[in-house]
Amino acid sequence: MSTVQTNKVLYNMSKTIAVLGAGTMGNGIAHVFAMHGYTVHLADLSARQLQKAMSVISHNLDRMVRKERITSDDKVRALVNIHTFEKVAPAVEHAYLVIEAITENEQLKTNIFKDLNQMAPERAILASNTSSISITRLAREVTFPERVIGMHFMNPVPVMKLVEVIRGYQTSDEVADQVLDLCADIEKIAVEVNDYPGFISNRILMPMINEAIYALFEGVSTVDAIDDIMKLGMAHPMGPLELADFIGLDVCLSILDVLYEGFGNPKYAPCPLLVNMVTAGKNGRKSGEGFYTYPPDEEPYVSIQFNRPG
Ligand code: NAD
Repeated sequence: MSTVQTNKVLYNMSKTIAVLGAGTMGNGIAHVFAMHGYTVHLADLSARQLQKAMSVISHNLDRMVRKERITSDDKVRALVNIHTFEKVAPAVEHAYLVIEAITENEQLKTNIFKDLNQMAPERAILASNTSSISITRLAREVTFPERVIGMHFMNPVPVMKLVEVIRGYQTSDEVADQVLDLCADIEKIAVEVNDYPGFISNRILMPMINEAIYALFEGVSTVDAIDDIMKLGMAHPMGPLELADFIGLDVCLSILDVLYEGFGNPKYAPCPLLVNMVTAGKNGRKSGEGFYTYPPDEEPYVSIQFNRPG
């Protein structure tokens, strides 16, 4: 275990990780690593997003204190472990592991992996939290592609146990083993899969969500009826439309585009209603409106009324 002294901060290389992107997933990943004693460098281009992320993390830690899963001291320790950065370079320069959790867009992710090749330590593990983009293609941007891997956390990260670990075509066994150990260290359960569009989770989940949107679009039933049927009939904790809002409709659309292009099969074509909603900026819970409207401090209500079944 090596340490480096820079700017009066003593970095423990094996306990310093960088999380790029402080959105829905980045704040959850930072929360979990910080709670397990890691120093977390959380970076986002937007200062506002970083502020929002810190307040979401604090709020979520409070909830854990109320449920007596952690103490108030644990909360303070976790918050102290997180440092925010508006630039990628200083966030990653001492990282043992970098987890990229920026917007689901291949061009943006390709650019960031190009940057990481220059900015991150040569031996750092470079992980992507992508929901669907090829790890093997991201690894092409890096001189040592064997250190690139997928760590697909589930939303909400502090609650969900699974990390889908995606082995790119060139990911080494050593890197995969270290990532499995890291997942165990933060009390997550890692399951390994190979690198094909949508991996396993979204290859199965997104066609279901898309079909639910098609059912709404074709007037088969209403938003709440579709969600009720899947909750009450299939024992799903959330209906597919509520889940789509929770994931982010823009994220769902990007994943469906990757599946559609990757397999060349029309069964993955995103429903035109989903495309329209994302075009209109109705991205679900994070934007305040999707299939449901999310007023602050009030219960969500259905925002789209198609013909009721008659
Ligand atoms: P989000 O839109 O909530 O957040 C993305 C953040 O990335 C934004 O804050 C944006 O400012 C930042 N960003 C964009 N470009 C950047 C750059 N070059 N450098 C630094 N920051 C940058 O998105 P999200 O839902 O958190 O998704 C992030 C990743 O996680 C995506 O790859 C997504 O597919 C994946 N994912 C999402 C979910 C989910 O349920 N939302 C679940 C699993 C995985």
